[in-house]
Amino acid sequence: MQDFLVDTYGRKISSLRVSLTNRCNLRCIYCHNEGENNSGKEITVDEVAQIARIAARHGVDKIKFSGGEPLLRTDFEDILRALPDLRDVSVTTNGTLLAPRAQSLKDSGLDRVNVSLDSLSPDRFDFITKCPAGYIERVLDGISVALDVGLTPVKINMVYLKDVNEDEVEKMIDFIRGKPLVLQVIELMNFKGAFSYHADVAALEQKIKAKADKFVCREMHRRTKYYLDGAEVEIVRPIDNSEFCMNCNRLRVTSDCKLKPCLLRNDNLVSVRGMTDEELERALRHTVSIREPFFKSLSSHIPGKGKAKMPE
Ligand code: SAM
Repeated sequence: MQDFLVDTYGRKISSLRVSLTNRCNLRCIYCHNEGENNSGKEITVDEVAQIARIAARHGVDKIKFSGGEPLLRTDFEDILRALPDLRDVSVTTNGTLLAPRAQSLKDSGLDRVNVSLDSLSPDRFDFITKCPAGYIERVLDGISVALDVGLTPVKINMVYLKDVNEDEVEKMIDFIRGKPLVLQVIELMNFKGAFSYHADVAALEQKIKAKADKFVCREMHRRTKYYLDGAEVEIVRPIDNSEFCMNCNRLRVTSDCKLKPCLLRNDNLVSVRGMTDEELERALRHTVSIREPFFKSLSSHIPGKGKAKMPE
């Protein structure tokens, strides 16, 4: 029988979220950078492969790469080729460097991509990402090539921002309709002091629900998927959401090779650099044993009750 990694809250770890770098070619106004703030040496191909191999022995069958911008790693294909057999291998990227790499990433074992795209308007995109003009074209091109080479479903990550892109959800739904694209509308979390852009995702979800032909609840983070006339939309509500935490099955790995039990904490990281397989196995178990939900209480759903403070 397989020896799974289960924390003291009964949450079984089935997925890894690995940050490959802190570097990014965009400067998004709200970015949480996967909760990281380090300038250590970047995790190597062998380090990623070792962590994935040991975790896979214990039932982890899914890995997502993130960052910073993971496609800034020129050895990303090497990382993909060094992985054990996993059910789902994906990356979250800003898409600006995707088009020329999509085929080689697919050939190296990547199953699918999430592309961050908060707006289809060039001016709004430039405002949000603080990038030079014209990058949005690269992102749209990246999405198109990803579809062509079969990195599907391509998920579009749209952070919902007050007075910036609130009025664009319909347009985004039209953009994905009828293609192997899924829209994920994500509630803004409070990083970089950008919380003035926080918009009411619960209200948006009610509107989408009212229009949906059908919906299904995913166990991961208790997210609901809505189907609207050939378009698939997911609403991700991480804030003050105890169900989000209670169903969290991921363990994070930082870009300087530490195990990270929670996006929202940096006081319980476990460095695994230079470890033997046996030491790493023990470190994995220890890290899982200290995992705890950031939002614990069900009462924290009620406005004004049990609100935990988000890190800046
Ligand atoms: N550079 C890559 C990208 O743009 O997708 C990967 C890193 S980025 C940190 C990963 C995802 O986190 C993106 O989809 C982004 O929209 C989301 N994200 C970043 N900061 C966030 C915040 N404050 N609240 C909610 N989502 C956030």
